[in-house]
Amino acid sequence: MLFQETFDVIVVGGGHAGTEAALAAARMGMQTLLLTHNVETLGQMSCNPAIGGIGKGHLVKEIDALGGVMAKATDRAGIQFRTLNSSKGPAVRATRAQADRQLYRAAVRLVLENQPNLKIFQQACDDLIVENDQVCGVVTQMGLKFKAKSVVLTVGTFLGGQIHIGLQNYSGGRAGDPPSIALARRLRELPFRVGRLKTGTPPRIDARTVDFSVMQAQPGDNPTPVFSFMGSHKDQPTQIPCHITYTNEQTHDIIRNGLDRSPMYTGVIEGIGPRYCPSIEDKITRFADKDKHQIFIEPEGLTTHELYPNGISTSLPFDVQLNLVRSIKGLENAHITRPGYAIEYDFFDPRDLKTSFETKFIKGLFFAGQINGTTGYEEAGAQGLMAGMNAALSAQDKDSWTPSRDQAYVGVLVDDLTTMGTKEPYRMFTSRAEYRLMLREDNADIRLTAKGRELGLVDDDRWAAFNHKIEQIELERQRLKQQWIHPQHAALAEVNKLVKTPLSKEASLEDLIRRPEVNYQDLMKIDLVGPGLTDPAAAEQVEIQIKYEGYINRQQDEISKQERNENTRLPANFDYKVVKGLSNEVILKLNQVQPETMGQASRISGITPAAISLLLVYLKKQG
Ligand code: FAD
Repeated sequence: MLFQETFDVIVVGGGHAGTEAALAAARMGMQTLLLTHNVETLGQMSCNPAIGGIGKGHLVKEIDALGGVMAKATDRAGIQFRTLNSSKGPAVRATRAQADRQLYRAAVRLVLENQPNLKIFQQACDDLIVENDQVCGVVTQMGLKFKAKSVVLTVGTFLGGQIHIGLQNYSGGRAGDPPSIALARRLRELPFRVGRLKTGTPPRIDARTVDFSVMQAQPGDNPTPVFSFMGSHKDQPTQIPCHITYTNEQTHDIIRNGLDRSPMYTGVIEGIGPRYCPSIEDKITRFADKDKHQIFIEPEGLTTHELYPNGISTSLPFDVQLNLVRSIKGLENAHITRPGYAIEYDFFDPRDLKTSFETKFIKGLFFAGQINGTTGYEEAGAQGLMAGMNAALSAQDKDSWTPSRDQAYVGVLVDDLTTMGTKEPYRMFTSRAEYRLMLREDNADIRLTAKGRELGLVDDDRWAAFNHKIEQIELERQRLKQQWIHPQHAALAEVNKLVKTPLSKEASLEDLIRRPEVNYQDLMKIDLVGPGLTDPAAAEQVEIQIKYEGYINRQQDEISKQERNENTRLPANFDYKVVKGLSNEVILKLNQVQPETMGQASRISGITPAAISLLLVYLKKQG
């Protein structure tokens, strides 16, 4: 076909990775095309309608700090918000929101449709145009050609997607969507290492057939946490509760009796599933001693009766699904609106990617999202933003940028994937980060927004709001350092009510906040001390910075010590055979991964401290 149009960046796929990638490239001024199967499914949540959680909430805040859409859309769609680990330290506190699936999609689409420099086109991408190991564009199912300097593939679970329900299976990208067969075939011709993974989803249930009176209600927090640094409570729709129920011995018997028709337990499914999101058949087999498993009954939205029973993802045959659901307390008369299923799909070994997410073999071609072996919307969104941003930089012949492990969870994600690869769907946890105290949800903007602004990802409104917040924090910290409560101070009696041991000598407000029993908000309620900051995010920041200053400084010192070696660059396309003393195994691994920095090299499994010393000596000799 003669039709041909040229862009700077083309993003294939309109899921969580694709939307963030397209928006990032367009925000950076690139003429961008988002090419996707179906405009109606832009921002579609394939599985659980929820965003955030431990580690994942951190990623969402980082996406937001860099101007992305996920947190904003969640504020507009969230129907039950909670702060998880609220009683624990700030490093592991995490925001989670149950979302109205339709409101979420609508919020994402609104942002996409109003983004300058971005065009959307509905059509499957069947082929890539590659010339001299450089991608030049894509070809659609109809044969339309779109040319571009960079292409980002974010095609999720669709590559060679195979849906399983019991021993029946058929091709599909996810229930109701076509698979990507032609593109999968084309990608298998290219020199990437490819594998199969699987994931699954539970059957959905009609709320009108559920007895909530025998379940435990779980309301959200009040006041609700706000996800976006630019968000507000006013954005949030009506809040409704989730409910909790449990499986029982009868449920487990039904499942055990159905295992001979399970695609997972009869070897029909070969792909490896997410360890931390196992199917119910996996749970009762792996934890055979447990007599019950918790199930969260989560609403799918405000205008639908459909429910998502979180905890019973399954690919058992439909009759087994029905019986197992109806054996659960409160679900005895449940009507299933959609069967649960598992899906197997192709993913590409992320060790074949640079830290920019550009593929090592095809210049200008970037991969992001589930295609890289991850699971989850948040992991996909974070990669999408990185890939879209780096595709935009590459289209302008500029150097790529990736945050480091001590700067962002996104940095941890990129480094883990590109250095170690993954054999099972990768999800983020706070335990993956070595510098957790630095990488908190609350300071994601302080860590990243200035860099985002420099890259062109952050608009004027966000930048102005960020600078105002920083100014407020700095002024307040100065005031708290300089204002003293002395033994004759008019506020002394009120202050003494807050502290464990009454003040015997003068103390600054900062000293008082350092005490574990004193919190900023209570102190600010005292006349002549408060009112303090009215912006709760700025106030929280002041309190955390003061209370954790000692620990934060210690971690910062550790990071500084590591930094020199961490950031020492290694040559590209380098044959490590020339470094004397390295074992054959080390040479093989370094040649395969081609680490970009000494830090990355040190995290490759099997690379010993001795090998790192040899590399350092070699680099020093080279000058
Ligand atoms: P997706 O959200 O899948 O988006 C891919 C996009 O690419 C779609 O818009 C699609 O239409 C488009 N596309 C595909 N091929 C083409 C093509 N050739 N041309 C044009 N457009 C194309 N995550 C969890 O964290 N926990 C879970 O329990 C969980 N369970 C899941 C269960 C199922 C059944 C599925 C399908 C997914 C599940 N996920 C789960 C994963 C979660 O949905 C994904 O991690 C996330 O959606 C990945 O985002 P993505 O942008 O990479 O891909």
